Formats: sequence, C-alpha cells, structure tokens
Amino acid sequence: ATPMSIMVATGRGAQAGVLIRDAEALERFAKVDVLVVDKTGTLTEGRPSLTDIVALAGHDETRILSIAAALERGSEHPLAEAILSGAEDRDAPRIDASDFDAVTGKGVRGVVDGRTVGLGNARLMKDLGIDPGDAEARIAELQGQGKTAMLLAVDGKLAGVVAVADRIKETTSGAIKDLHDAGLRIVMATGDSQRTAEAVARDLGIDEVRAGVSPKDKADLIAALQSQGLSVAMAGDGVNDAPALAAADVGIAMGTGADVAVESAGVTLVKGDLRGIVRARVLAQATMRNIR
Ligand code: ADP
Ligand code: MG
Repeated sequence: ATPMSIMVATGRGAQAGVLIRDAEALERFAKVDVLVVDKTGTLTEGRPSLTDIVALAGHDETRILSIAAALERGSEHPLAEAILSGAEDRDAPRIDASDFDAVTGKGVRGVVDGRTVGLGNARLMKDLGIDPGDAEARIAELQGQGKTAMLLAVDGKLAGVVAVADRIKETTSGAIKDLHDAGLRIVMATGDSQRTAEAVARDLGIDEVRAGVSPKDKADLIAALQSQGLSVAMAGDGVNDAPALAAADVGIAMGTGADVAVESAGVTLVKGDLRGIVRARVLAQATMRNIR
C-alpha cells in the first residue's frame, strides 16, 4: 500500500475509535481468516455480579459468602470484585483470611478461622483432592445459564457454590453476525468452563469453543491455527490474553482492558466495542484493493 493510502485508512480508523499501529497491521488485517475471541471482558462487559449462593447440607449461605469474600479480598480478578460487592450488598459479616494464595486460572486459597479454605473451579477442587459429587448437577445448571460457578471448599470438603453472571455487551451480537457474514471463522477461547462458554457461544451464534484454557494455551491455539496456513486475529482485553495477542497475525486489544493487552496488539478498539473489528476489516480491505 502507498504511505498515503495507509495514512488515510489509519486516520479514518482513529476517527471511529480504531487505532491501527502500522502499515503491517493494516495489511495483515485484510487477509485474516480466523478471529479468536476471549470471553470475559471482550464478548461480555467484564463486570460480573453475584447471582446465586448454594449452601450444601450443614452450611449457611451467609457464612459461605463471608468466607468467599475473605478469600477474594486478596485477588484482583474480576470474579473477586463480583464476590466482594455481592457480600457487601447482602451484608455478609466481614471475616479475614490468612496465608492467601492466588492460583492462576483456578482460584484462591487461604486459611479462615483456622480452617483451610479454597474458592475456584473444578481444577482447583481437584488440586485440593475434592470431588464435587452431589453438587455437580447444580453446578451444571448454573453453567448452562452462562454463569460462572465457583466452588467453596472448607477443610477438604465441598461446602457450597457461588455463581456470578457477566452480561454480554450490547454490541457483541451484531458484530459477531457481521464478522460471520464477512466470512470470518470465529473461535471463543476462555479460561471459564466448557458449559458456561457454550451457553454464551450459543447465545451469540459462535460455533467453536475452547474452554478451560490457560494464557499459554490461548497462544498455542493461535500457533496451531497458523500452522494450518490460516491467518489469525485475536481479540482480548486482559493480561492473560497478552501472549495470544502477541502471537496472532493481528492482535486486537479492547482498549478498556489492561495496558499490557494494548502494548501487545497491532489494533486497539478504544471503546472496547467489537464492531470496531468490522470497521477495521473494511478499511484494511479497501486500502489493499486500491493498491493492486
Ligand atoms: P478468563 O479467560 O475467563 O479471563 P482466567 O484464566 O482468569 O479466565 O480464570 C479461569 C477460571 O479460574 C475462572 O473462570 C474461575 O473459575 C477460576 N478463577 C480464576 N481466578 C479466580 C478467583 N480469583 N476466584 C475464583 N475463581 C477464580
Ligand atoms: Mg478477559
């Protein structure tokens, strides 16, 4: 492309809130076949809120929420915020945890009132030697509603389940439809559970889901698609998306997320609105057509 046509395209993009880093990013964008999208904060608002508390036999809902909040006070995960404001809204008495430990992609652990406690997903429970057993059906039901279920363990036994829901952004559905219509294959990649991910994907008409993936898995997924000869864009918002954004042919940062994401990306959507991807794609293809 000529420097002039690229300047015009990036200028138009900027006006629409789509920051394109350089000529290469624009050129590569025109050729993208597959878009990999993160779920939390990219498809959804990224501000989950507490919806359900399930207390297993012998346990109390308020107590469960107090313990969950004690653990999450040491975490910076968006899920932690949901638990903390949920505990506040429901006036769950404050208790404190010691020996706090955040386990990336799994949850949080610590000690409360002399008891060993943990809050997180099935993988965390496995680490703690816990089988969800009877609670499995309830967890599946919550996940089937697109909610993220977190399991609370107390002294090596499952005590309860707390669930949060994160709204899908208003603009997501239309953007996904347009990107599908433009011929892009769309794959959701998320650290969340398979069932939760599938429920959200179903609502949006996304037919490919990779759930339970770590930040490294996301980057490996990009590389695997590229090795099939595909040109891959990745859209994400968080620190955990940075490796995948860097690995992609075009990394797309939701400007509302972490700065690390923005630094690793060739394209930044200032308003965190996925429709910006549709615009950037149109601009990129028009620019490339002009030069041929
Ligand atoms: P995502 O790709 O959705 O941002 P993460 O890798 O951050 O996912 O987390 C994956 C999963 O690990 C979450 O869905 C949750 O089940 C569990 N998890 C991670 N951090 C926490 C936490 N602070 N509290 C409870 N659960 C957590
Ligand atoms: Mg995210």
